[in-house]
This record gives sequence, structure tokens and C-alpha cells, in this order.
Amino acid sequence: MKLVLLGTGGFTPTEQAQTACFMLPEMGILLDAGTGLYRASSHLQTPDLDIYLSHAHGDHTSGLTYLFSAYFLDEINTLTQEVNEHTPAVAVEQANRRMHATRVHATQTALAELTPKFAPSQFDWRVLQTEERLPCGGKLTSFNLGHHDEVGFRLDWPGHSLAYVTDTIARPDAVYLEPIRGVDLLVHECNGPNRLAQMMTNIGHSYTAAVAEVAAQVEAKRLVLVHKCPVQEWSVDEDMESARVIFPAVEIGNDGMEIEF
Ligand SMILES: [Zn+2]
Ligand SMILES: [Zn+2]
Repeated sequence: MKLVLLGTGGFTPTEQAQTACFMLPEMGILLDAGTGLYRASSHLQTPDLDIYLSHAHGDHTSGLTYLFSAYFLDEINTLTQEVNEHTPAVAVEQANRRMHATRVHATQTALAELTPKFAPSQFDWRVLQTEERLPCGGKLTSFNLGHHDEVGFRLDWPGHSLAYVTDTIARPDAVYLEPIRGVDLLVHECNGPNRLAQMMTNIGHSYTAAVAEVAAQVEAKRLVLVHKCPVQEWSVDEDMESARVIFPAVEIGNDGMEIEF
């Protein structure tokens, strides 16, 4: 199973990282829809998509604006006929059809905020269920992260599992530890370094050691850190050596990375 990191930044896109968006191309699934979504066109393998949103903040949803263009580019790049004067109109029609067929799953609270904002796109909005069926016999479980309205996701297929947790404070007594126990791949936010631990906690985000400890505690097999802080001086690079002592299979996620799990 493949996960493509389309956007590994938090808050705002930078030269290094677009904001939160993660794609499972074979399954036609996106986790969050930050600005990294514009890159989805190069990875589309399915007619349309299921998009699961962790919450309504702009760095996780503003990329919905680019969904039409992603489908449009895919239509143009996969043309089976010679280009003619009707090509753009046909591609627009197809892209619109695919956009309207896209299921966007979010909590009631997030939907209340997002549906008026993206009304012109006419997505197929869905209230996120605690358990959702996925293609190829998989299932997605969503769970509250214990702060505001953010939810985390766990996706399971026979022999493959992935959990995505963002915009939360990693701590040993966090409420989401049981749902992610034993997961093959844990994609967890890590917004700042250990030296800014208190500041990260105050703003509702995680620092390196705490995330590594969570991964060790739930016995994840692999940990990828995302939701990079746009402030360069607050990068978590400086903590990687000490993080590996706590949890050896840890790495920083970068835009464009493709991970097999
Ligand atoms: Zn965020
Ligand atoms: Zn947020």
C-alpha cells in the first residue's frame, strides 16, 4: 500500500512544504486537503476521490479549491483523442462531473463551516462516521483527539495499517493512544523542537520527544513527522538524534515522499 505525502507543512505553505495533504492513490483516498492537494493530479488512479478531513482549519482544507484543476489536468494529460477546439470544454465537463462525485467526509462541526465556503464546488459532502468502509476490504476509524473538534484517522486493510494524527498535543495520557495501537505507519504532527516544548503545548501542538514517546508507547512500526512549522528556526531537525533513542524508526516527512506500508 502506498502513501504519498503531498503536503507536510502546517499553517501556511513555504518554499519547502505545502500544507497538510496525504494521498493513497490506489485507494482514491486523501487525508486532509491543504495546499498540497494541487499535486494530486500527478497521482490520480481513480475516477474520483474520498477526502477525509481532520478539521476545518484552512491549512487542512484550503486545497479543496484546487480539486477541479487536479481533475482538469488529469483529463488533459490522459486524452485519448487529438486535441481540438472542443477539448477544453469536454475536459471542464468531465472535471466538474468528477468534482461533484467527490465525497468529502468531515464532522458535523466542520461541515457547518465548510459547506457554505465551498458551496460552488458542489462536492458530495458526507458526515464522518466512526467507522467507514474502504475499497479492498479496508476500514477507516475516526476518533476524537481530546481538544477541540479535530479527529484522527486509522485505516486498516489486512496486513496494512496507517494512522494520521494532527493538530494535537502528544502526551502519555492522550485519549487517542488506544485507537492507534500497533499501527504499521504512524503519521503524526510534530510542530516544534524539544526546546520549545512548553510553547508547543500552549498552542495545542506537539514537540519531538513527546511524539516519539507516543510512537514507542503504542508500539507503532514506523513514525513519520509532519505539520512542519513554517518558522525555520523552530525546525525539529535538531532533535532527530535524540528522537531515535526513544523510537528508532522515526523520520521527518517531506513533500513528495512516497511510503510503502
Ligand atoms: Zn494545522
Ligand atoms: Zn488546525
